Amino acid sequence: MAFERLPFDPETHLADVGMFGQKDFGAVYLIDDERRAIIETGTSWDVDRILEAVRAFGLRPADVDALVVSHIHLDHAGGAGFLLESMPRARVYVHARGARHLADPTRLLASAREALGPEESREFGTMRPIPEDRLLAVSDGATLDLGRHVLRFLDSPGHAPHELTILDERNGCVYTGDAAGLYFPGDEILMPIAPAPAFDLEANLRTFERLLSLRPKALLFSHYGPHLRPLEAIERQMAAYPAWARVVRESLASAGEEGVLKTLYDMSCRAARRYPREFLERRIRVSITGLAAYHERMEHAAPQR
Ligand SMILES: [Zn+2]
Repeated sequence: MAFERLPFDPETHLADVGMFGQKDFGAVYLIDDERRAIIETGTSWDVDRILEAVRAFGLRPADVDALVVSHIHLDHAGGAGFLLESMPRARVYVHARGARHLADPTRLLASAREALGPEESREFGTMRPIPEDRLLAVSDGATLDLGRHVLRFLDSPGHAPHELTILDERNGCVYTGDAAGLYFPGDEILMPIAPAPAFDLEANLRTFERLLSLRPKALLFSHYGPHLRPLEAIERQMAAYPAWARVVRESLASAGEEGVLKTLYDMSCRAARRYPREFLERRIRVSITGLAAYHERMEHAAPQR
C-alpha cells in the first residue's frame, strides 16, 4: 500500500490498507503539513502496512504528530495503540465520549465480540491500551492546527454516540468516518451502516442535516475514499437509512434475516461489479442486527411526555 495524493489537495493523501482482505475498503488519510496527521488507524491487523506506507512516503513514523480516530470501533481505532509505539511524538484525538475506552479497551473489546460474533470479531482484531497522557479527548468545535490545514471536530452521533466528523477548513472536505455510511467507489454504491449496540436513526439523520449545512467540497469516507458529489451522496443516504430501517421493522419477523438481506441487497447493491456480493452482504448483516436492536430499544423506551 502507498499514500497517494488526493487530486484536489497537494497535502492530503490516501492509502488503502486492504482491510478485511478487500481492496478499496479501509482508508487511511495522511495530511503532510507543518505538522503531520493520520486520520483513521485501521484494525490491529493493518498496523504494519500503515507504518510501511508512512516510510515509503518518505517520513519516519516519529514525524507523525497526530492520530485522529473518527470513532472507537476496532476498524477505526484498533491500530492506534500499536502505531503509537513507533510514533513517539503522536497523540490520539478521539471523541470525549470514547476516550476512556481507548485507555482501557476491556469493555469495548467485550462489546465488539458480542456484537460481531466470533468469526467477524477475529477480522476486527484487537486493541492496545493507550496511556492517558497520549490521548486528547475532543468535544464539538475543537480544532487541531496542522499549519496550513485546520481540522474542526464535529459531534456526529448516530452510527455511534462517540462518532466525530472532521472538517478540513482549508479544503472544505469532511472526513465522515462512518457517520455518512459506506461508499463503494467504482460501483458507486452507497449503503447505510447501522451497527449494534448503539445505532440511533434519528441522531444519524440529524448528523446528515449538519453535514449538508457545511456544504462540503467532498466527503472523505473511511470506507472508502473521496466522494466528489457530496450533496447527492448525503441526500441518497438520507433516503436509504429510513428505508432500510423500515424494511427491518416490517419484514424481519416474517422474511427472516435472509429475506431482509436479499431485499436490502437489491435496494442498494444491484450495481455491484468490483465488490463481491459476499463482502457486501456481510456489511449489510451488521446493519440488520443493529437496526433490529434499534427498533427494540425504541419499543421499550419509556414514552416521551
Ligand atoms: Zn467502520
